[in-house]
Amino acid sequence: MKKYTDPPQLNVSRRFPDNMMSAHALTLKAKQGDKGGKKVASYAIPAFNITTIQGINAAFDAFETLGSSGLLALSNSALKHFSAGDPISGLEIASAYIQARAKRSSIKVATHLDHGDYTTESGRKVVQGAVQHLTSVMADNSTDHANKVARSLEENIAYTREVVDMAHPLGVSVEGELGVLAGEEDEDTKSEFSTYTNPDEFEQFITETGVLMVAPTIGTMHGPNKGKPGTKVKLNIELAHELLKIADQVQPETIFVAHGASTLYPQVVDYAVEQLEAIGSSMAERYGQTWKNFVGTDWEQIQGLIGAGFAKINTDTENRQTFLSALLGAINENSAKIDIRWYDKKTTEALTQSYLIKLIMAENYGVWHEPKINVDKFKFDLNTSLADALAAAK
Ligand SMILES: [Zn+2]
Repeated sequence: MKKYTDPPQLNVSRRFPDNMMSAHALTLKAKQGDKGGKKVASYAIPAFNITTIQGINAAFDAFETLGSSGLLALSNSALKHFSAGDPISGLEIASAYIQARAKRSSIKVATHLDHGDYTTESGRKVVQGAVQHLTSVMADNSTDHANKVARSLEENIAYTREVVDMAHPLGVSVEGELGVLAGEEDEDTKSEFSTYTNPDEFEQFITETGVLMVAPTIGTMHGPNKGKPGTKVKLNIELAHELLKIADQVQPETIFVAHGASTLYPQVVDYAVEQLEAIGSSMAERYGQTWKNFVGTDWEQIQGLIGAGFAKINTDTENRQTFLSALLGAINENSAKIDIRWYDKKTTEALTQSYLIKLIMAENYGVWHEPKINVDKFKFDLNTSLADALAAAK
């Protein structure tokens, strides 16, 4: 078996233009509890999966309101969506738009490739493109998605190390994955089985790959159905602490990443069901139960992770649900508006509210400047416009 030694260090002297930083730089600040040079308790950065221009606009509005560190994640299928099926031009288009927003921004932002697959030829091209256009990439090589089996540790290390060799000299941070995560995020990341991260393999993985960010599997799950309705997701926080101990010895700057950690908002589900009922009983019959069956991870569990070295919390499903709820609300309110900007505004502002509350929950505010609202007073409410919600939190 080949032994990998001396992985390249992340080139931290690389300065990205336009208020961009690597995801590692921002999450390390969060793990170390650094806000504007002041030492505070560890906080986390929710990584928002972006699929549209709307999502980017909503995220920046939320970051700037709160003075948060921003982390925008792009999956392969999101990149395809940005450019008629071609993820490579999608990278150029999405990153150019984000950079243009970041340049005008009062905060710092990282852009991250979510679930980059370095094991296939097409996936490799996307990872290579991401290293050029983004500030962070995930090398997701722990699962062989085509054959639905876990990849061997050796293979995972070999592929991930190749990405580190390419990205670290350019200052682009790399997130590896160890263990298999169940659930479905989108067409490209689907798995019906899961395995916990093995602590013995973990040490070898971070030593030989040199990754500074790693997604261990400790019981989280992708998608909106993380368990049977009425049950609670239980994470293996003990295992997280065991892994943290190892990381502290091998590489104390290691950041843990939580995938499949969406915490759903019950009020959003209620709002959606109300709108479905108001639109018509057949709508409520067709979709109401599906909404009620969604199961997320309780935030208390996620908070347990923040104390165990997790500083990047991937956040997607709850934002999608917020968007969809707001769209149902807009359709219920007026289905004949020909000015489609009205629907765009309604859904974008709802997304902004969803991002605001998640950033507040993760205590990712006041990092680059004081929040423009009183965070304790902010209430996430889809019955209220964004302007009113912000005004009420002054
Ligand atoms: Zn994921």
